[in-house]
Amino acid sequence: MNLQTSLLLGAALLSSSVWAQTPTPTPNPEFDSCLNALRAPARAAGVRDDTFAQHTQNLAPDMSVIDKLNFQPEFRTAIWDYLAGLVDEERVAEGRAMLTRHAETLARVSEKYGVDPATVVAVWGVESNFGQTFGKSPLVQSLGTLSCFGRRQAYFRTEFYATLRILQAGHIAPERLVGSWAGAFGHTQFMPSTFERLAVDFDGDGKADLMDSTSDALASTANFLAKAGWQSGQPWGFEVKMPEGFSTTGEGRRTKRGMGEWAARGLQRVDGSPLPASGSAGLMTPAGAQGPAFLVLRNFDAIYSYNAAESYGLAIAHLSDRLRGGGPFATPWPTDDPGLSRAERREVQTLLIARGHDIGAVDGMLGDKSRVAIRAEQTRLGQEDSGRAGQKLLKALRGG
Ligand code: CA
Repeated sequence: MNLQTSLLLGAALLSSSVWAQTPTPTPNPEFDSCLNALRAPARAAGVRDDTFAQHTQNLAPDMSVIDKLNFQPEFRTAIWDYLAGLVDEERVAEGRAMLTRHAETLARVSEKYGVDPATVVAVWGVESNFGQTFGKSPLVQSLGTLSCFGRRQAYFRTEFYATLRILQAGHIAPERLVGSWAGAFGHTQFMPSTFERLAVDFDGDGKADLMDSTSDALASTANFLAKAGWQSGQPWGFEVKMPEGFSTTGEGRRTKRGMGEWAARGLQRVDGSPLPASGSAGLMTPAGAQGPAFLVLRNFDAIYSYNAAESYGLAIAHLSDRLRGGGPFATPWPTDDPGLSRAERREVQTLLIARGHDIGAVDGMLGDKSRVAIRAEQTRLGQEDSGRAGQKLLKALRGG
């Protein structure tokens, strides 16, 4: 290759990577001067000047991530809606297929890290729908923007420097490093700093590649849980029945009591079998005393640390049980209008379109456009116009 060809190729590569990072390249002097000011602290954080220059040259901010940072949800998603979408028959079936397809890798991962295949696959299913949903924001751009605008800039700067170090180390190609608007990426949806602490190279190619190596991703998830205190061979917990009039005041995930104490207070497993003879657990009642109740052990805390939300932990814990052949919770959620699976959400969207609403593509995600249409239909049907789709709305829409 002569010099001129290589320069031309270089220019072509540079422009394509710039275009990939800047869908709307508007000059932004404030962003440029901010990035300039980040050079020195980035250097102090181990980012070489050439790395910094290579990845930030001609970078434009993506201000849509600031809108997402500031977004306040209109209403809180009820736990039964949250779980109905995350742990549905579709995900259970796909998860079981993944357990079979990756059985050999999962067995080696389990051997090395002590975390069972169903738990690892359940995290994978909830985090990225088994590698099918990674997010589309180029990390350098989204984290660069969050480092310079909006709340929590100090936090995002740490993640921005970690992103640049990951690129510098060559684990993932720059054009492959895309993720959620807030910087979680890959099969495991690790933040860049989590990647640096816990991602592992399990397939032995010298790179921890959470974008394109399923082996690396499954092992990294298991490594995360192991480092978070996973106890091999122990369950996350289980659903329990509370005796009539049982007081849940002051109880919770973190209030661990011995199994003997729980048994003495009348708690039983829902299948009627006795509580384990030893160990300690907290009592979680995510929808109050009238809904399902769970005794959660140390391993639930390990799952919880993945995303610091009890509803999230319960989704993974429950999915892992379903993958092992378990059924739905024994106690119904305290609602007369249960949530919808993703298949049912797609059906709602199809029915909304059939009624003439413009809601975009049928994707099972009930976004803003779907909610507007849902409100209109609820008004027409004489239902409360909450914008929430549950079984009642689905039934009514099926009826015309
Ligand atoms: Ca690898």
